Amino acid sequence: HAKNLGKDNFQYYNKQLSLNVHEQLKIEQSLKDAIKNGELYLNYQPQYNLQTHKVIAFEALVRWQNKELGVVPPTKFITIAEDTGLIIDLGKYIFDVACRDFIQMKKVDSELHYIAINVSSVQFKDPDFVQDVLKIVEKNGLKPSDIEIEVTERYIMEYSEMNLKAMIDLKNLGFRFSIDDFGTGYSSMNYLTKFPIDVIKVDKAFIDGIPEDNNNVQISKAIVALSKSLNYKVVAEGIEHEKQEDFLLSIKCDIGQGYFFSKPLSIEDALKVLKDN
Ligand code: C2E
Ligand code: MG
Ligand code: MG
Ligand code: MG
Repeated sequence: HAKNLGKDNFQYYNKQLSLNVHEQLKIEQSLKDAIKNGELYLNYQPQYNLQTHKVIAFEALVRWQNKELGVVPPTKFITIAEDTGLIIDLGKYIFDVACRDFIQMKKVDSELHYIAINVSSVQFKDPDFVQDVLKIVEKNGLKPSDIEIEVTERYIMEYSEMNLKAMIDLKNLGFRFSIDDFGTGYSSMNYLTKFPIDVIKVDKAFIDGIPEDNNNVQISKAIVALSKSLNYKVVAEGIEHEKQEDFLLSIKCDIGQGYFFSKPLSIEDALKVLKDN
């Protein structure tokens, strides 16, 4: 009986695998033309000053709507874009659209601090990356300090002299940096101080359990305290309930982001939010 079960499991696994490979290939093929066909667009999720409840920034989040595949979430296609190198063109396109939209946002609310853009580690390995993003920012009439580049903690862990240099060059040009998904990638405190970081984003995984889960409460508390003592700003990601906001405010977390405040918005809706900001 155990043997049969094993065999069934194997077949099931195989089916799943071939389906995934097929899906992967389909995504890869369609993604190649996605920019050209105008299928990619950006949503913007507001970041709130927890004390004043004002929107201080937006994070750009890419969206892909394909005729055959429907809406494909970034968690599905970013990895494929990275593995195939498509992320280089895609990343430049995202940067450009985000800059253009940020100009619109600033026209409505001149006090907006920055636009946060997620950048993949593969983009940093492109030798032209620093020059390319600088060109895009200048072409759009923005300053590097208008841009916060979000890199994941995993990226920091792939430490090399080369990616550190790219980050330091960008930092010297005036770009801001945040570490995304902090706490999930085993980043060592040593790497943390080596990189030119401005902001730490506490991963949703820790925010989820607040206030019931004492471990998550203590971890969030420690991350906020650590960020403060190293002079980083701190953003809590994935706030869904008022109780989480209350707690984060009580431990002096600066900035909050999450469905409790707002889901990611179209540019039109983001501009509406700014009208009453
Ligand atoms: P991330 O940068 O950590 O972005 C936060 C993700 O959590 C977003 O998912 C956002 O919609 C979602 N989120 C925000 N608040 C809440 C909440 O309160 N509850 C829940 N359940 N979710 C919340 P999204 O847009 O699907 O993006 C997923 C990931 O894909 C991003 O995680 C980022 O790593 C990557 N990604 C998105 N856009 C880009 C991009 O333009 N470039 C690159 N390289 N990666 C991107
Ligand atoms: Mg992010
Ligand atoms: Mg994150
Ligand atoms: Mg996250």
